Amino acid sequence: MATVDDENFQAEPYEEGYAAIVKAAQEWRAKWPNHCTKCHGWGGKMWPATRHEPEDFDFCGAHFPDICHRCLHSGLTEDGEGPCTNCGWNFDDGEPML
Ligand SMILES: [Zn+2]
Ligand SMILES: [Zn+2]
Repeated sequence: MATVDDENFQAEPYEEGYAAIVKAAQEWRAKWPNHCTKCHGWGGKMWPATRHEPEDFDFCGAHFPDICHRCLHSGLTEDGEGPCTNCGWNFDDGEPML
C-alpha cells in the first residue's frame, strides 16, 4: 500500500552519502595500497553488543601480529599492539565502509 511518505521519499541523501564513502574508500586505498585486505586496515572486526553478548573485537589473523594492518610494515609489538612505528596506526583507522 503506497503512502504519502513513500511518494515523497528522497533517495538523494543516501546516494550522496554512498558516493562520498566510495570516494573516501578510494582515497584511503590510494594512500595505503599495501593495507591488509582481510580486515581492510581495521586490525580486526568489531562486533556490536547484542542482547546476549557484550561488544567484542575479533583480531585479524591474516599475518604475524607485529605486522601493521594499514601499512604492512613490522611496526607493532610482537603481541600486535600499536601504535605502528612506521605509520602511527593504532587500530584507529581503516578503509571507509558502508
Ligand atoms: Zn588485517
Ligand atoms: Zn603501519
